[in-house]
Amino acid sequence: MARQNTGTFYGRVKKKAHPFEKDPTQEMLEKGWIKRGASRGQWIHGPQSTKLFRTFEKIVLEELLEPLGYQEMIFPKLVPWDVWQKSGHAKGVYPEIYYVCPPKTRDPEYWEEVADHYKVTKEVPIELIKEKIGDPIGGLCYAQCPPFWMYLQGETIPTDSFPLKVFDRSGTSHRYESGGIHGMERVDEFHRIEIVWLGTKEQVVKASEELHERYMHIFNEILDIEWRKAWVTPWFMAQEGLAGVSDEQSAGTTDYEAPLPYRGEDGEWLEFQNVSVNGDKYPSGFNVKSQSGEELWSGCSGVGLERWTSAFLAQKGLDPENWPVEFRKRFGEMPEGIRFF
Ligand code: ATP
Ligand code: MG
Ligand code: ZN
Repeated sequence: MARQNTGTFYGRVKKKAHPFEKDPTQEMLEKGWIKRGASRGQWIHGPQSTKLFRTFEKIVLEELLEPLGYQEMIFPKLVPWDVWQKSGHAKGVYPEIYYVCPPKTRDPEYWEEVADHYKVTKEVPIELIKEKIGDPIGGLCYAQCPPFWMYLQGETIPTDSFPLKVFDRSGTSHRYESGGIHGMERVDEFHRIEIVWLGTKEQVVKASEELHERYMHIFNEILDIEWRKAWVTPWFMAQEGLAGVSDEQSAGTTDYEAPLPYRGEDGEWLEFQNVSVNGDKYPSGFNVKSQSGEELWSGCSGVGLERWTSAFLAQKGLDPENWPVEFRKRFGEMPEGIRFF
């Protein structure tokens, strides 16, 4: 969800010089680490960039999720309207979603016409298919955490389970982004670790502070990148057309942003992840209660692997020789990749 910066930046770590000043997507293309996928805003990752993604995941697992006690789950990736009605996304997500339509029937006879048309003309008969598919039932995963909440919907949870801490990294997210030319940093199909926590207001705020601590440790000690935090309008306000910070004290969204040296001194910084305290939005939308009767809050944080890659490579370049030692230790050897004539 496009969000407005409130202009409040904090926690910035400044690096003196960025030796690398090229666009990493172009460099990755030239080195054959990635190729464009057949679909809009989609990439095929070769062994090299895949290993980068997996290393980022390993770092997040070992340095953050395991020490803080988050349990892995698998969230669904096809999201019906019902879920977005409860999460609030149904208020405004329409321009950015990939819609999903099931067939009106799976009777092979009903579809014969389409298959025959293809066999004869070698063209897929889109108009005919349009007549034979049903209404959109929802869309592909957009924000990653909403479908998780159906697991808790209508439940009362024992007080000693809080804070409840989970994460998902089981599949792709899809957004219909703006048309212009984008690289790895803005794609229609992306990979993200989504972290979700739930508890009393105090527990939720504390859990978010613990995440911030660990993230900053990773960015400073392992990735060694320049970054800043920005206090931005939270998604649940942005989609209602509101700007600014939430009136609910301590609820809100912090984006982590990194400069991309190839964009120049005054170039736009890239949001590469966020930490959100969502107040009672989700527990109340999905009717989740605590045994104690206390109000429940929740938070979520999205680690965008394409965004981490863009920020890291834009500042460090593609040559592992120039990567920080702590990162190289975890990355190991660069895979050979696939060669072409
Ligand atoms: P932007 O303003 O850059 O479009 P956003 O505000 O839409 O970002 P969120 O809705 O906060 O992003 O999504 C959470 C995280 O998901 C982001 O911090 C980012 O890591 C990742 N993300 C979102 N959109 C994309 C995209 N198009 N390509 C790659 N990663 C994305
Ligand atoms: Mg966006
Ligand atoms: Zn979320």
